[in-house]
Amino acid sequence: MRALLAGARRKERSLLDFTRNLVQAESPSDSKSAVDACVALAAAHMKQLGGRVKLHRQQHHGNVVEARFGPRASTRGDAKPILLLGHLDTVWPLGTLTSMPCRVRDGRLWGPGTLDMKAGVAMASTALELLMEADLLRREVILLLNSDEEIGSPVSRPITEHLARQCSAVYVLEPAQGLAYKTARKGTGDWHIVVKGIAAHAGVDFEKGANALRELARAIETVSGWTDLKHGLTVSVGVAAGGTKSNVVPAEAWAHVDVRIPRLADAARITRKFAALRPADPRCTLDVFGGINRPPMERSRGTVRLFRKAHLLARELGFELTEASTGGGSDGNFTAALGIPTLDGMGAVGEGAHARHESVLIEHLAPRTALLAAMLAPPA
Ligand SMILES: [Zn+2]
Repeated sequence: MRALLAGARRKERSLLDFTRNLVQAESPSDSKSAVDACVALAAAHMKQLGGRVKLHRQQHHGNVVEARFGPRASTRGDAKPILLLGHLDTVWPLGTLTSMPCRVRDGRLWGPGTLDMKAGVAMASTALELLMEADLLRREVILLLNSDEEIGSPVSRPITEHLARQCSAVYVLEPAQGLAYKTARKGTGDWHIVVKGIAAHAGVDFEKGANALRELARAIETVSGWTDLKHGLTVSVGVAAGGTKSNVVPAEAWAHVDVRIPRLADAARITRKFAALRPADPRCTLDVFGGINRPPMERSRGTVRLFRKAHLLARELGFELTEASTGGGSDGNFTAALGIPTLDGMGAVGEGAHARHESVLIEHLAPRTALLAAMLAPPA
């Protein structure tokens, strides 16, 4: 363990350099050419480390890179590979670097995508490097990096699920929650409510109108009332609009709703409720569509087992590792829902994911990279 920690400290500089290179390659999910360039950079790096690299080319989204390290896996029990899961896309548009430069200051690495999650990707490749140099990589490890996580993983999801099914465990390189690993995540859902009413002159023909905004307001009240904080279920109307002019009874209004569920069983229940929404004014129509797009990552027995192992290894490395749950989704939600033990938040420690102050705390990089390596190493 001490050797892994010392090795990780020695490699801190190159870990930071690789992170910076990835950050300099700006990679918003919606710019295929940009995100592909970042993927190509990562793929070249993995190849250089000796990885068996395969590019899953995509037509309308960024490519997905799969890199395999260590001996080729057998398909039996314990010898199954471990999947390291990450993404290279960010929420930041091209040009963000001009106002949010990538730089080291005050013990942090700042910049768009540093924490979420390019530092995590660099930590994973550094951990693999450490293990290969120490001849401790005795099982196959698959590093899978996608380009569409920030937009819900529409094309990478089947690739992730296919590979996860072949693996004994999934380690997700998303940022830590504070200092904690994540053992549970809520599932996420997304609904649209579109109301059609009847337009009319607000002064001349008021009673002929059917006010779509009023109907939408009622629907917003109804769905917001489904929030059950005690059980961690939330329904939040995030965007709404409607109408044209103040003197026109509005014929149209719509809302976009965010839903978070702690348990898989909540999915069917909330889906039924949305499907059963009816207008209070029979002259209005409601068009309701959407669904749960990421199942919850429940705190399963397999995940707890992985966390306990990490907790013990962290102690040997000299720090106390805690666990946390979060309302945010990741690709770990998909793999956990398949029943594959999944541990999340194994990437960098920092602040400000998706925010202007996005940054990584450099002091935590080496110990967490050593922990990641220890989680991939054979038991001592
Ligand atoms: Zn992320």
